[in-house]
Amino acid sequence: MTSSRTLILIKPDGVRRGFVGEVLSRLERKGYALDALKVIPPNVEKLEEHYAEHAGKSFFPGVISYMSSGPIVAIVASGSGVIEGFRALAGATNPADAAPGTIRGDFAQAPSGGPIENLVHGSDSADSAEREISIWFPEL
Ligand code: ADP
Ligand code: MG
Repeated sequence: MTSSRTLILIKPDGVRRGFVGEVLSRLERKGYALDALKVIPPNVEKLEEHYAEHAGKSFFPGVISYMSSGPIVAIVASGSGVIEGFRALAGATNPADAAPGTIRGDFAQAPSGGPIENLVHGSDSADSAEREISIWFPEL
């Protein structure tokens, strides 16, 4: 498989709880390259663009509020199969369903009624990756 790239966000709960190093370590141990990385202050406009596919859903306002509750870390990582590979490292969307050994399975709990706080985002396709990279890294 040829190298591809993906957009990863360490969400506000991940930054607040001190999991930036842990996530970077898992990327490095897997052998993915870090192409770009930055800390980004809360930005509702970019978050609404990032999550545009979910606009209109009942959980959308809660997710925007959660995602703008503190700084995030945005990363472009590359490697063979990195899009699917990082989503496997992250685990299922709901931490209640995420297997032990995954980031969400190891470090996040079942949602308690509000938005699902699950530490990380990873692009779900090559098209999504390019769209999301252009939001957070317009300079790339
Ligand atoms: P993923 O991040 O695994 O790609 P989605 O794209 O479906 O998941 O959803 C984006 C984010 O919105 C999730 O990571 C989670 O933080 C939140 N979310 C998704 N579904 C729900 C839901 N039913 N209730 C609350 N929050 C949700
Ligand atoms: Mg998604």
